[in-house]
Amino acid sequence: MKKYFNLLNGPNTIGNSTPSWVIFSVILALFLLYPLFGSRFMASNISLFVLYVPIAFGLSLLWGYCGVLSFGQMAFFGISGYVYGIIAANFQAFPGGTWIALVAGIVATVLMAGFFAYFVFYGQVSSWIIPVLTLVLTLVMETFMGQTAGYQWKVGNALLGGYNGMTNIPSIKVGPVAFMSGTYALYYLIIGSCGLIYLALRVLINSKWGSIIVAIREDLERTRTVGHNVNLIQVLVFVLAASLAGLSGVFYVSWGNYIDPSTMGLISATMPVVWVCVGGRESFLAVLMSTIVLGYVADLLSVYGGQYAFLVSGALLLVVMLFYPQGIFVSIARRFETTRRQKDADARGAERIEIGKTISMKRAAAKVLSEATPTGHGLILQGKRLSKSFGGIEAIRDLSFEMERGELRCLIGPNGAGKSTFFNLLTGLYSPDSGEIYFKNEPITTLPSFQRIRRGISLKFQTTRTYQNLTVAENLQIPYQSMDERSETRDRLGWAFEAFGLNQLMDHPVKGLSHGHQQWLEICLALATDPELLLLDEPTTGMTPEETSHTAEFVKVLNEIGISVLVVEHDMAFVRQITSKVTVLHHGCIFAEGSLPEIESNKEVRRIYLGE
Ligand code: ADP
Ligand code: MG
Repeated sequence: MKKYFNLLNGPNTIGNSTPSWVIFSVILALFLLYPLFGSRFMASNISLFVLYVPIAFGLSLLWGYCGVLSFGQMAFFGISGYVYGIIAANFQAFPGGTWIALVAGIVATVLMAGFFAYFVFYGQVSSWIIPVLTLVLTLVMETFMGQTAGYQWKVGNALLGGYNGMTNIPSIKVGPVAFMSGTYALYYLIIGSCGLIYLALRVLINSKWGSIIVAIREDLERTRTVGHNVNLIQVLVFVLAASLAGLSGVFYVSWGNYIDPSTMGLISATMPVVWVCVGGRESFLAVLMSTIVLGYVADLLSVYGGQYAFLVSGALLLVVMLFYPQGIFVSIARRFETTRRQKDADARGAERIEIGKTISMKRAAAKVLSEATPTGHGLILQGKRLSKSFGGIEAIRDLSFEMERGELRCLIGPNGAGKSTFFNLLTGLYSPDSGEIYFKNEPITTLPSFQRIRRGISLKFQTTRTYQNLTVAENLQIPYQSMDERSETRDRLGWAFEAFGLNQLMDHPVKGLSHGHQQWLEICLALATDPELLLLDEPTTGMTPEETSHTAEFVKVLNEIGISVLVVEHDMAFVRQITSKVTVLHHGCIFAEGSLPEIESNKEVRRIYLGE
């Protein structure tokens, strides 16, 4: 319980301080006490503004935290509302019938959302298509429900009603109490559920799972290549968001006893996006406030006609996008937070980070070595006749490659030779047009990335791919293996952080680190997945000669403690220092292979690569 309580505050939420919680509690108390001094009419209106909060929370989770913009929330709102209506109309006479209808509404939403999300996320549809697809879903639902006029669309007692909508839908009931518009029962049900959902979502988003959701937003491929089942997590987040929309849908129908297809129309579909965007999509607190405030403003304006509300919403959205792209409430909160963070940083002073020349990496590594499992013999990696083309370009051509367990190998070749593509084939980011890949003598050609990572392959990308907006420590929490409490990443990799001076930078955002430190951090991220085979793509780009040499030493230590390393590098000083076997790639094929002196004296290699 205490653990969950602590998660109410964390890096992924705003309003973490005691004063903000005091303000929040006071406002909540005012809402709860409102019936004592307010009017029933206004309470009914407040119920209406607040019942949209779950749907907005869902979108904040999906878009703000997971990076998937959806116009589909209102489709799930509508589906749930209709299903609730149909079941409630038929089973209202049974005890608990309306509660069964509530559950049925949400279950229908979950099934529909799960089905849709499975195809979208497992199909790896590009992120800019998803808004279009979700909008199409909403409009299709509107059109479909619009043509349900006529008696053939009668389900038991429930008449769907086409564009006129479904009327006389029973409210949620407990015994004689109906949770309908104008009742305090519904008022408290809605405020109470929103409050609980708010707290639960804060706990979720500050938990380890929350950091992975954020990691997917920050860099989807990187999150795959630290061992997470990204597609599944996206589906789950989408379904959770949809079920929150479904809950709003049921509240709406219970409130008004009515639903029509326009709830799934174009204007409705954009409303949650406006609420979330105006408040600040990366904060449940901001979304909570903006949804209620905008609902209230729209209600005030509706006295002058509904069109003004839309006009004002549109104008507001424009202003916010131009001047407060993070959202109004989030911008305000961040302003306070940055000044506080700045102070912390100033207090710490500008420490000079020394890279760990003073510590003997080998000695530190030896400790780890004694605990490491024996490496064994045989092939760790085998590529058989791999090919991969992009349009007309054959990036990899009939490539066969073998590597022994415990080997340290350099892969060199001119730009465009296919080295990075080869790594992408090995890690499953691309699938080969033909050929097979074996890892530890097992075929992995068709395995998704996260499973290859969990089996022991790890990658440092050519361009540094770390989570730029997170701190060093937060970055290291993200790999799949870091989630296991028993193998605390910090303990396991302490020696590596020390070797790179990263231990002094734990609380620094990655954005501000030097290029060298970013490269080293990415190597540590790759190590955090506990690899047996480490693929390093140009790890020393942008480093000083001194840093390059330090990295080469480090790579040798990694190899000595039993990790097989395949490293792409242009810097010949680095390759010389490593003195390993070298493979030369040219036009997607292996051009030459051998010891460094052999390669350096090979005339053909000198011609194609060393430019002679
Ligand atoms: P290297 O890492 O050896 O410099 P790459 O593997 O990056 O080479 O690229 C090999 C060839 O494949 C290049 O001609 C490049 O343009 C092409 N290529 C790589 N990735 C893609 C892609 N995603 N789409 C199209 N062409 C690509
Ligand atoms: Mg490359």
